[in-house]
Parts: sequence; structure tokens; C-alpha cells
Amino acid sequence: MRRFIQLIAIIMALATGQNANARTGVTYTPGECAFSVETNQDAQQVRLSIYDQGIGGKPVKTVNMKQSSSGDGLLWQAEVKGDLNGKFYTFDVKYNGKFRGETPGIWATAVGVNGKRGAIIDMAQTDPQGWEADVRPDIAARDLIIYELHHRDFSIDKSSGMEHKGKFLALTEPRAINHLKDLGINAVHILPSFDYASVDETRLADNKYNWGYDPVNYNVPEGGYSTDPYKPAVRINEFKQMVQALHKAGIKVILDVVYNHTWDIDGSNFQLTRPDYYYRKNADGTYSNGSGCGNETASEREGMRRFMVESVKYWIDEYHIDGFRFDLMGVHDIETMNAIRAAVPQDIFIYGEGWSAGSCAYSGELAMKANTSKMPSIAAFSDEMRDALRGPWDSDSKAAFLGRVKGNEESLKFGIVGAIEHPGVKYDRVNYSKAPYATEPTQMIAYVSCHDDMCLVDRLKASIPGIDTDEIIRLDLLAQTVVMTSQGVPFMLSGEEMLRDKKGVHNSFESPDEVNHLDWGNLERYPQVMAYYKNLIAMRKAHPAFHMGSADMVRRNLEFLPNKLCLVAYHINGRQVPGETWGDIYVAFNAQKRPVSIDVPNGKYKIVCYKTECKPENGIHLEVTKGKVTVPAQSALIFHN
Ligand code: CA
Repeated sequence: MRRFIQLIAIIMALATGQNANARTGVTYTPGECAFSVETNQDAQQVRLSIYDQGIGGKPVKTVNMKQSSSGDGLLWQAEVKGDLNGKFYTFDVKYNGKFRGETPGIWATAVGVNGKRGAIIDMAQTDPQGWEADVRPDIAARDLIIYELHHRDFSIDKSSGMEHKGKFLALTEPRAINHLKDLGINAVHILPSFDYASVDETRLADNKYNWGYDPVNYNVPEGGYSTDPYKPAVRINEFKQMVQALHKAGIKVILDVVYNHTWDIDGSNFQLTRPDYYYRKNADGTYSNGSGCGNETASEREGMRRFMVESVKYWIDEYHIDGFRFDLMGVHDIETMNAIRAAVPQDIFIYGEGWSAGSCAYSGELAMKANTSKMPSIAAFSDEMRDALRGPWDSDSKAAFLGRVKGNEESLKFGIVGAIEHPGVKYDRVNYSKAPYATEPTQMIAYVSCHDDMCLVDRLKASIPGIDTDEIIRLDLLAQTVVMTSQGVPFMLSGEEMLRDKKGVHNSFESPDEVNHLDWGNLERYPQVMAYYKNLIAMRKAHPAFHMGSADMVRRNLEFLPNKLCLVAYHINGRQVPGETWGDIYVAFNAQKRPVSIDVPNGKYKIVCYKTECKPENGIHLEVTKGKVTVPAQSALIFHN
């Protein structure tokens, strides 16, 4: 059936004059395989080689491909008769009289070990049982609670109790699923899970760790997270099993995509097929390095833009992916980001880092945070809120609001409203953005920690001298309450709910498991942390007032109380929020080491967040008679009537 649909799609594309080679590579049928690859105009010859193995050995067949024109380049095609299921293939393109070297091309959807050769498989055979019934959970952007996870971090330690440690399959196990459901998050953002370079898949016993921001094959799952990287169908099947298990639990799966750079230039599949086409160069002919990783791709080029659009669509179609987090989104142009947005269903959530890691060789508008309003339904991480809480990104030892540094109040308020225009925010006192960047609050990602930089515990230790465990817990809970009550889309690093640390390492991209792993024993050591997170998330989910989803509603119903030193407080008129069962809702964040009072109208309220407890279901009775309520030291206070 699937093959038939593919065939129909190709015929339709030809009939409607669309670009039939939107996805090159191989199309398999049991009778023959069709191969195609795109090159620059000056390519002289393309050789297709067929192998029995994914690595080593000599080709069993070599074919010269035929050329035709395609877009701004050339399309090379070849048909090979017979059933090639289980074989492997490479292309080798000749420029200036020299073959550049073998490559699976940019559109391999299955590969051998380490992604050196494309694999010929029947994709329909990779579907787990019941896959046809798998659907993306129906969760609106305003309702998302995102949990950022690295496969090894999450399951590698023996304390995880999981069988498939460091593998996609760990996320199919009851221990994993039950924990995520118990916590209450509804979207898992998985760190790079496409085929990347830095872990040698032939030496998995070495237990080498990497985040994976070094792409090789963009459209194939990483072999190191599979139980057998030599068998091309295994990683695909196991990835799908993971998606299926999470979807069954009502959890969306968001893929971290890294189209902004490749692992290297000379050996990349981009460069081996279309030299210098996919990369930006400086005026002096050197490669631009806006990614900080040695190169930057050129999304504004027709072929690169088409590649990104088709790649995202492929992950949705083949793997049922629910959303995408664009690494260094600020390296891409806004036209490409909008083209991606337009090409995918509206429920696909798209967000990214609205910055680059260096200057980009592009004179048009880039998908920077400041341009978010020009990219409807695309969100950007708010470093305003993050750094206002924990301290600036360029110095681990500097504190901010959590460490009682004054002057962060307006930046916090910027994050509370979701980076939108709001009459209560003094934008000239915000740390980075001096104007709102989001049109709607769902265009802002609210967070205090992610895989980059120190995790929250380490940052608190590094920036607040003499801090003890009790104070770490108080400030950790305070910080996450700011995040989880923000009108933006809340996002947390996995393991924060178990008070994880990374032994003070702030860039743990290749640190060993001992640094990166979650210690599941902490759930028993600090049960109050998990209990608080869980109730806090439940409170957000149960109360639309904390995720109104519309800038107009936030402007109308959320009003700030006057700032005090290291204290921010606001009132939400819950009566005006559809579906809200609470009336007047007061939220106050006090980072000071002493209680501070705020002015509120007299009346009877219920306290639901107090010190290290969050109990939205059964609040403590509070009667205000003198127009004042005391906010305890270093904590959030939430009460309502
Ligand atoms: Ca790999």
C-alpha cells in the first residue's frame, strides 16, 4: 500500500509540474530501484555503487547515472533491476576531472553503520505493530509543557532501572513512561536523534557520550541509540516504537534539528554532492561560521530551503513527529522558517534558538528572536527570563533574581507575559530585548535551564556562595514556579525534577555519563522536589489563567502589582478567562531571604503554593483583613478566591 502511495505521489508531482525530485536518494520496489542525486551544474559524471555491506568490501555493481536539469543544478538518475532489499549504495560525483568521494547523498532515509552508505530497505517493513493507528496527540501550543531529554542522560545510570539504557527503546519502558506521566509533562523534546558523527557506532562498548550537534545524515535516526546500528531497519523500527509509546501516553515527540551546520565541510554529504552550494561564504572566500561550529548552511538557497522543508515533512510523515526545535534558528532566514511553517500541519509546534553563535554571511532577515513577530506560530527561547532568574549566560558565577541581585524584576515580567506587548512591563529595563518580540505568548519559550550551560543546581551553587541544600531546593522551586506560571510555553530540562547536577560542568556535550546521567535515587532523596513539580504542572494544566494563549487576554486579565526589591507579583482576573474556575488569582515571587508583604484586597482566599508545597487541589484558608499578605522568603506564593 505504501509503495503504491509513493508511486502515486511521484506521478501526481510530475503531472502537476511540482519538483519531482523533492526527495532524492532511492525509491525501492521489489522489481527495481530508482536512484537519484542532485549536483551542481558543472558536475561531469556520477557513479552509483551497490554494495552487500554497509561498511567495507567492494561494490557488487557500479552504474553511471544519467543527467537532466533540476532547479538550479543537475539531477542524475539510474534504475537498477532486481530486488536490492538489504543492499547498500553510494554516489560519487566528478568535478574538474576528479571524483570527490563516496556519499549516501543528502537524502538517505536508511544507512549502514556510521552512515557511510545508504541502505536499501522496504520502509513499510520498519513499522511496529499498530503503527497505522498511531496519531499525534491533540495538544494546543498554549497547553504544551516541554521536557528536554538526552537519551543517555535519561536512562544510562543503573538507578534508572531501565533495560535499554541509553537507547530509543528506554522511552518505551513503563518506568520511563510512568515517570513522565506522573510528572505531567506532555511533550518530550529529544536532543539530536538523527544520525550524527561524534559517536563511533562500531565501538558502542566504549560508551562515548555526545549531545549530537554534529549532523551527518539528517533523515535517519542515530545508530548509537539503537540496539544494532549495523542493521539499517532496526534504528528506524526502534525510533518508531519510541514515538508510538510516547503517543500512547499522550506525550508529543519534538525533534531537535540542526540544519544550521554540518559536522565538517569536506566530508559532508552536502559538499560531496554540491560543493559550496549549501554553505555561506564570506566576501574573502572563506566559509562563514555563524554556527560557531566551523560552517553555516545557506537556507536562502533554493536547494537548501527545499531540503529543510522536505526533511521536516519527512519526519512528520514517516515518524509522526509532533514538533521541531531549531538549533541556532537565527542562522536561517525568516523566509525559510515561514516556508517550513506553511508546509506542515498547524498542530506541529515549531520553536528555536533565536540567535546565532557568530555573525552570518547573509544580508537579508534572519530568524532572530527580534524577528519573531515576522514568523507567526514560531516560538523563540526567552533568554530574558532565563538570565533574569539564574544570571547572565557569559558568567556562571554571576547570579540574578534568585541570588537577590536587584534590577531583574522587569525582565522577569517580560517572561511572565510571554514576551508580548503589555502595559505593565517597562521594556527599557529588560535585560536584552528592549521591546516585546512576540505577537502571541505561545511564541515565547519560558525556561530557566536546558542542556546548554549549567543545570539549575550547579548554577545556584556556582553563583550563590555558601548555599546549602535547603536553599537550593527553595530557589529551584521558586524558579520553576516562575517558568510554569508564565504565559509563554514552559520548558524544563529533564532531571530538574530530581534535583540533577552535572558536577559543575557547564558545557557537558562530551562529558562522560557520570557527569550527564540522571540519578534516579534522587527521587527518594528529595521527594519534595518531584512532588512540587508534579503539583505545579498539574496546577498549570488545570487552570487556563496560567496559559491564556492570547496576547489580548493576557493584556486584559493580567495586571502587575508594584515591584519590590527582588519581588515580582501579579493578579489575574480568572473570571474573564474561559474555563477558569478560580476568580482573583495572586502570584508572587520573593527572592529575598526575608518575608515581604504585598498589598491585596481584603477577603477570603485559598493558598495553593506556599514555601516548598504546592497543593492546587486543597488550598489553605487565608483571610485578609488589613489589605496585606506576607510572601515567605525565597519562595512563590499563589492564592486565589
Ligand atoms: Ca551516527
